[in-house]
Amino acid sequence: MAAVAIGAAGRSAPGGPTPGGGAAASGLAAASAAAAPAAGCTDRAALGIEVQGTTLCASIDDPAHSIRTELLRDWIDRSGRIVAAYYARFPAPLVVLRIRVEPGTGVRGGRTTNDSGLMIQVSVGADSTAGDLAADWVLVHEMVHLALPEIGRRHNWLAEGLAVYVEGIARAQFGNRDVADAWAEYRRSMPLGLPRAGEGGMDESPSWGRTYWGGALFCLQVDVAIREQTHNQAGLQTALRAILKETGGYRAERGIDDVLRIGDAATGTRVLQELYQANRAAPVTPDLTQLWQRLGVPEDPKSQPFDDHAPLAAIRIAITRQP
Ligand SMILES: [Zn+2]
Repeated sequence: MAAVAIGAAGRSAPGGPTPGGGAAASGLAAASAAAAPAAGCTDRAALGIEVQGTTLCASIDDPAHSIRTELLRDWIDRSGRIVAAYYARFPAPLVVLRIRVEPGTGVRGGRTTNDSGLMIQVSVGADSTAGDLAADWVLVHEMVHLALPEIGRRHNWLAEGLAVYVEGIARAQFGNRDVADAWAEYRRSMPLGLPRAGEGGMDESPSWGRTYWGGALFCLQVDVAIREQTHNQAGLQTALRAILKETGGYRAERGIDDVLRIGDAATGTRVLQELYQANRAAPVTPDLTQLWQRLGVPEDPKSQPFDDHAPLAAIRIAITRQP
């Protein structure tokens, strides 16, 4: 079964319409893709894209041929390579992509499920330019979901938080997103993840803010703490690569304690397990102002310089540096 994004099956993107709202994916017309289907693509008309040994099998619902297949191919290929670079390999051997072309521009309504094989569904505006697709975060977010096992709806904040956090970092590492832009979004949006009055721990608070940005804030705290404890030799990325390698990602079902233990073993710390225990059942409000100061992240990273003399500046720089 799929993990659950706020009341519906599957993992979805934070900016999408109602999370989990538009699941219907049957009856898609396949694209008239020029290329032959790649090995493992059972849909003969699908567009097969190979990324580091993985087949991304894209069925494109665009009966009017309103968007060029080449644009979609480049976007899927780039998104796959961004995620493969972060994890040192693409997180699944075969993924079906169902792409629905709709009026307008940009990418919307991402959703990843593991009911019978891995599937990502997403809508693309027919008038999207190459620039629109290069700036897209939705498909990277969905592909990041492939790297974490099914851990159950109670812990959906970890699945979504990882997708939100890793999307920004992975794209910055790849050169697909300005480093300042990624930090600007974290600085602006992470306060949305702080517990509100009356809310409980992370496992008890399925609100949008706690799930997406509370989860992302957990990931940032973990990343910084691992790097502090390992003299910046390991980070969350080290843990996530190990979790993927050992579990196989979203095709597998694992307990959260197992997953965190695997991640901690890879970094030689107990950061994931300890931070989870601290946040699991009690609302925790970290001092974000102090965290940004220690990392040297200014109030508006897009117009103000980073502070490279801040105590954790080296950690901030390492997080977005290409490994
Ligand atoms: Zn998601």
